[in-house]
Amino acid sequence: MRSQQRGCAFFNSQRLMRPFNFSAGPATIPLEVLNQAAKEMSDWHGCGMGVMEMSHRGKEFISIYEHAESLFRELLSIPEHFKILFMQGGGLAENAIVPMNLSRAGEVDFILSGSWSEKSFKEAARYCSAQIAASSQSSGFHEFPDPSTWQLSSKAQYVHVCTNETIHGVECNTLPDLKSMGTEAPLVIDFSSHVLSRTVDWSKVGLAFAGAQKNIGPAGLTIVVVREDLLGHALSVCPSAFNYQTVAKNQSMYNTPPTYGIYMAGLIFEWIKQQREDDSTGVLALQKRNALKAKLLYEAIDASAFFSNPVSPKARSLMNVPFFLKDPSKDALFIQRANERGLLQLKGHKSVGGMRASIYNAMPLEGVQALISFLKEFESHFA
Ligand code: PMP
Repeated sequence: MRSQQRGCAFFNSQRLMRPFNFSAGPATIPLEVLNQAAKEMSDWHGCGMGVMEMSHRGKEFISIYEHAESLFRELLSIPEHFKILFMQGGGLAENAIVPMNLSRAGEVDFILSGSWSEKSFKEAARYCSAQIAASSQSSGFHEFPDPSTWQLSSKAQYVHVCTNETIHGVECNTLPDLKSMGTEAPLVIDFSSHVLSRTVDWSKVGLAFAGAQKNIGPAGLTIVVVREDLLGHALSVCPSAFNYQTVAKNQSMYNTPPTYGIYMAGLIFEWIKQQREDDSTGVLALQKRNALKAKLLYEAIDASAFFSNPVSPKARSLMNVPFFLKDPSKDALFIQRANERGLLQLKGHKSVGGMRASIYNAMPLEGVQALISFLKEFESHFA
């Protein structure tokens, strides 16, 4: 491919440095990880095969799978009574798979905090009696609904929360403690867009799912973490390959799992394990770094008269930062100049417009600093 066609002057100019990629997903992956995968592409650890060419039942791939699974458990301190499932289908498929496995076709409570929880609610309604227990729609989804306002049903089979709304940039910063709110219903979280960016209190969670394409690796892999006692109640319409109990019994090998995605996830888990920030390592180190990155970016946006973020400060996502230009006629110019500076994929989601900087784990502090300098410069020239 000729460099011109890539549409990025920064990339074209000698390739001295990789551009910073702010895509909401599929998203940037650490260069070290990509380089290692490239090195191992045609011959993994001297076995004469690339990972994509291996049987998922062979000893080589089984070792890759077990390594990835145990690292994921270790990084997020997942207790033994939770199963970790490596599936296909992405977050949207889970919107059907979760109710098919957990709802018993009964009532389910949904907390609406943005587009993704809304989609989960609508899809689940095909399999169960889906109810809205709380919604921040009237605020334009600029808040996370306060748990003290949730109207939970005593009959709910589970309560669904999207803990990071990728489009609206709203994050649930403290998981609700459903027990203390008077319900035994398990909490189901869609943590697709902030998985591994922070620790999880598993005592509050029944099931968590995440598509891989933000903080885990390439699209195509979906990770489900499910408490063992919730298995075994799938509706008869549930496809066998999506029955959590079947998947768990077969160590995620009931059907062919997304093998390359699992391998890449394992490399990323190793990268996470090596991260250091002061005296913290792994996810805790990333949590600190992510907090700093987001603080600097929100501070820069708030200090500007030209850029703004509408989300209430206590609900602002540390991963996805939507922002708007005061003069939207400059949106296209902003994107063009950003590309020229090697700041890629800043266009906001089409449903809300504006811009969005996704600053996942693999976005270094330097990327956020480069974006902030660019915001200031753009404002001084074009405001
Ligand atoms: N949930 C969240 C929070 C997401 O951000 C996304 C994708 N951006 C999805 C679900 C849907 O994922 P997929 O496209 O992999 O089905």
